[in-house]
Amino acid sequence: MSGLPELTETSFVGKVSIVTGGGSGIGAAVADRLSKLGSKVVIVDTDEKAGQSVANAVDCDFTKFDVADLTGWEKLVAETVGQYGTLDFLCLNAGIGSRPRGSSVKDDPIPWILPNYKNVLAVNIDGVVYGAMAALPFMEKQGSGSILVTASVAGIRTQPPDPIYALSKSAVISFVRSIAPALAERGVQINALCPGSVDTPIQPDDRRLEGRPMSPPEEMAEAIGRILVSDDNGGIWIASSSDYPVWRYEFTSAIDGPPS
Ligand code: NAD
Repeated sequence: MSGLPELTETSFVGKVSIVTGGGSGIGAAVADRLSKLGSKVVIVDTDEKAGQSVANAVDCDFTKFDVADLTGWEKLVAETVGQYGTLDFLCLNAGIGSRPRGSSVKDDPIPWILPNYKNVLAVNIDGVVYGAMAALPFMEKQGSGSILVTASVAGIRTQPPDPIYALSKSAVISFVRSIAPALAERGVQINALCPGSVDTPIQPDDRRLEGRPMSPPEEMAEAIGRILVSDDNGGIWIASSSDYPVWRYEFTSAIDGPPS
């Protein structure tokens, strides 16, 4: 997997992880993987029934809250550190699209933009920025911590069926790349994984009916675990079904102009 370290219990036993959106799909697979490797895992989700059910199945804790709530984040981080003494891994994974479930990818996205714009940005951007900022004081104090943002290839290439989703994923990719140096000075890492198509409920039904190839969420969980324990910082990693295994995306620096 492009130089990423293998996952071993040594990196996770005695460690504490928070996984947002852990009630379904990629987040549920990450919670399961990290828990089996020995980490204490706290699942966060707005869907109480789903989050509690995954937590029971994979031996994790569950907290119901909306990742767009900064006060909720500060409370969650303080309670987690208070109860377990540390916070080592933060998976900022919860995300939504602007398209209603059951809609077709061929439907015109324009009618959904204004009604859903603020909510998509709240979950997909606030949920990342607030989570990272709430965890930072604790991670800085302990001199270590690794944050992983689930972005999307939609944030790098275009995604005409859902422009607001693409906007939100571009934003968090830029955030990860830009904040990484300041976090490094505090002993903290941040990276992002950009999945392609993964077989989870976020996928429009007609994508599934088309028979489009999709990665299992467990492959994303493996990639996320490996990035979390790597020594990379500010890395944008791609894991799309057509070019799995995961690889590091290198942005061109041409915009900086010719070398002086
Ligand atoms: P999913 O719908 O299966 O899971 C998302 C989870 O996030 C759900 O359990 C949902 O209840 C939770 N959630 C939604 N809003 C929340 C909020 N405000 N606070 C807390 N929890 C909230 O989808 P998934 O595919 O597992 O998506 C996980 C991440 O992966 C998302 O950020 C998504 O954008 C990204 N992603 C998914 C794919 C894919 O093909 N499935 C591709 C690229 C990126």
